[in-house]
Amino acid sequence: MRRSIPPSTIMNPDVLVVGGGPVGLATAIAVRLEGLSATVVERRLPPVEKACGEGIMPGGVTLLKKLGVNLPAGGSFRFRGILYQEGHISTRAHFQGLPGMGMRRTTLHNALVQRAKELGVHFLWGRQLRELLPTGARLSDGMVRSRWTVAADGLNSGIRRTLGLDGPIRRQRVGLRRHYRIAPWSDLVEVSFTDGCQAYVTPVAPDQICVVVLTDNPRQGFDRLLSRFPLLAHRLQGIRQVSEEQGGASVFRGARGVVRGRVALVGDAAVSVDAITGEGVSLGLHQAVALARSLGRGGLDEYARAHAGIMGATIRMTRLMLALDRRPRLRRLALGTLQRWPGLFSNLLGIHTRELSLAQFCARLIRLDRLGRTHT
Ligand SMILES: Cc1cc2nc3c(=O)[nH]c(=O)nc-3n(C[C@H](O)[C@H](O)[C@H](O)COP(=O)(O)OP(=O)(O)OC[C@H]3O[C@@H](n4cnc5c(N)ncnc54)[C@H](O)[C@@H]3O)c2cc1C
Repeated sequence: MRRSIPPSTIMNPDVLVVGGGPVGLATAIAVRLEGLSATVVERRLPPVEKACGEGIMPGGVTLLKKLGVNLPAGGSFRFRGILYQEGHISTRAHFQGLPGMGMRRTTLHNALVQRAKELGVHFLWGRQLRELLPTGARLSDGMVRSRWTVAADGLNSGIRRTLGLDGPIRRQRVGLRRHYRIAPWSDLVEVSFTDGCQAYVTPVAPDQICVVVLTDNPRQGFDRLLSRFPLLAHRLQGIRQVSEEQGGASVFRGARGVVRGRVALVGDAAVSVDAITGEGVSLGLHQAVALARSLGRGGLDEYARAHAGIMGATIRMTRLMLALDRRPRLRRLALGTLQRWPGLFSNLLGIHTRELSLAQFCARLIRLDRLGRTHT
């Protein structure tokens, strides 16, 4: 897989992307579409796997299409909204427009790599960034000179740390993920709540679902945590597991900035939100496109300004979801309210997925309120 020629002798790209996860790959694709050259360095070999809920929100699906990424219909599943449940409470909301899409991480990775190759992105698989240099980077086996460097090196970004941009960790949990061979029983992502733990199910193929349990206490193990969701545990009884169980940190953390000199942070390397939002990949795709546009215009200033706007609504939603995780009574009250007012839930989801602006949300809320009054 590795090339025998040291990268320094062959590489002098406009943009060096460190990290070949979904956001690094999307950045390289978007950069090529802006007419700049791009090299991706990734320490692992493709397709890169990672514990993830594997649901891509509608905004992310739209961006993948815009980038020309071909998502295989047979290896994915469209979902039309979200269902929240706890005990006897169950409430659902549909997206305003296009559906979201569930797919295995490896399927997404393959699709992104294929598109990047079509566009002439250079890859350095199995190589690691060792040191950031003023004119590029020193890798595990060579040097790359570049005009800009993009840190897409994930949650524990070494580049972010080196640049002194680490922000405080606001909350850290763990997600445990398994896949089961079963036809999805719903076209919604189903999120089940219980005290201190959530389980969510994403349909990822016509014959497969992805199940994640999120917890502060992973030592209990997947099966014990799953047993806290009797309905789901019952459904999965005797169903064949088709992947190795994988765990991953779900961290809500900011950065002290997303641009330093000629280096920009994207995706989880910039800001990571808790997995319960289901927004990590979509947010990263929005950032990738904004960053490439900024680079296409000759610099990083525009990206630095755009980043806060991209993250705002999801950061507020993350705070809310994590607060509800720790306050069971408030959570049940909130879920009960959404159950009574499904229109409210669907409009809140619209804000979360950026399908609705705040002004549209308020207008709809007023309409809902009037409707409620005429019915009481
Ligand atoms: C349990 C769980 C469930 C989740 N569920 C969802 C969901 O349903 N929907 C959703 O949208 N998001 C979800 N997320 C979040 C999502 O997984 C992340 O937001 C997403 O993976 C971020 O992509 P990234 O490319 O920024 O980082 P990563 O996917 O972490 O990729 C970073 C890459 O950089 C490479 N790298 C790191 N350091 C170096 C180095 N020095 N040199 C070379 N390469 C390096 C790594 O090998 C890795 O491949 C979930 C997360 C967790 C933990």
